[in-house]
Amino acid sequence: MINILNKSLKKTKIIATLGPATDSKKVIRDLIIAGVDVFRINFSHADYDLVTKNVAIIRELNEEMRTSVSILGDLQGPKLRVGVVKEGSYLNPGDILTFTNEKMEGDSKIVYMTYQNFPNDVKVGERILIDDGKLALEVIETNEIDTVRAKVIQGGPLSSKKGVNLPNTNVSLPALTEKDIEDANFMLDLELDWIALSFVRHAQDIRDLKDLMAKHPKGDKKTPIIAKIEKPEGVKNIDQILLECDGLMVARGDLGVEVPMEEVPAIQKTLVERARFFSKPVIIATQMMETMINSLTPTRAEVNDVANSVLDGADAVMLSGETSVGRYPVQVVENMTKIVQNIEKTHFYLSKNEPIEHDFSCIDERFVTNRVCLAAVRIAKTTEVEAIITLTNSGYTAFQISAHRPNSHIVVFSSNKRVITMLNLLWGVRAYYYTDEVGTDKTILKVNQMAKDMGFVEDTDMVINLNATPANEFGKTNTLRLTTI
Ligand code: PGA
Ligand code: MN
Repeated sequence: MINILNKSLKKTKIIATLGPATDSKKVIRDLIIAGVDVFRINFSHADYDLVTKNVAIIRELNEEMRTSVSILGDLQGPKLRVGVVKEGSYLNPGDILTFTNEKMEGDSKIVYMTYQNFPNDVKVGERILIDDGKLALEVIETNEIDTVRAKVIQGGPLSSKKGVNLPNTNVSLPALTEKDIEDANFMLDLELDWIALSFVRHAQDIRDLKDLMAKHPKGDKKTPIIAKIEKPEGVKNIDQILLECDGLMVARGDLGVEVPMEEVPAIQKTLVERARFFSKPVIIATQMMETMINSLTPTRAEVNDVANSVLDGADAVMLSGETSVGRYPVQVVENMTKIVQNIEKTHFYLSKNEPIEHDFSCIDERFVTNRVCLAAVRIAKTTEVEAIITLTNSGYTAFQISAHRPNSHIVVFSSNKRVITMLNLLWGVRAYYYTDEVGTDKTILKVNQMAKDMGFVEDTDMVINLNATPANEFGKTNTLRLTTI
């Protein structure tokens, strides 16, 4: 069972968004070979037939190539937009633009807004940002029924269906729109590996999605949830959100409009730190290699951004338009892989990322597993341990080890195929199928042999095995063994 991709292993994972530019099995295969670990399907623009087709292709390729590429479905969330506007509409500073609840073709004077409660929620003086903040307006009047008037502060062309951000307004929309509910149910039908929720403001948003999942016929399968942090409230409530969700995305596109852009770098670092503290993966997203949408070379600033995001401690770095609509989807991933691999080899990286010390005064049901995983990584960091090899049922052990960021390989075996692909998003984790649990001693010999066959370890290498003993009881990880191959 030799995995053709082992030679290009990197710790930090790459997520690529699917779209018109990736619309064939050949391109998807080439993307996997180039280093994609997770595909994102953005439901802001998804066609169900196409999604079904792409999911089938990825799963076929996983079989054919013996990979475990993961699929993440991304819900649009309460994204606000303006309606259709006449070609050539333009706003000049000082102009007054009226927002109406009445569906109509807009122009430079009046525009439809897809948010019926807007006149009620907004207050005079608040900001309206359109098209990723390219246009900025200030509210001067609302009739609190159906009309808001705003003065243009920063002008430019106004085009159809552009996104609207209201950084200061307390938006009363639910976290899950009608469209999100339909899309989430569709994702659950397809058993996608991860579901991301956009514009998360507080922990309740995650609980709402969990309630929806529980009502689905496959609700017992527990799809993990990524909270996309792209609003100031999400940043403020991050610890409560992390208690509910399974991972984070630093969604820098909308975040950089919702908060002053100069605050994004520090927020990125804080979110990485908090996510690791809760042993949950964190994705850094948006505009990482933006110029490669149209050009074969990224800017040096982009190369630095990818490398610095890796140094910050990201589990995964994400591509959006670069792969979904860009001209060079495969080359972007090839470049990203090279950047990631290079920075990961440096002492800057290898000496970073200390294991996380928790307050272990609270002894909960995961106490033993948590302590054993931390001990494993501590030993691995101070001894030349080539690989930490573990069995997992729910994936929990893999989340723990990954969050402590050992320099050793993290080789995970599971009999749960869904967990195997899900874990592919986590930093450093390589998961494989293994089923017959024949007692701890034999299991360890077997999984170590498999790790050796796959090229993770060689004779005389030191390895750590983490197990649940007795093996046949499917208990929680409680046993650490340090041996040589
Ligand atoms: P989006 O999320 O691509 O779905 O908008 C990412 C971001 O806002 O950065
Ligand atoms: Mn967004």
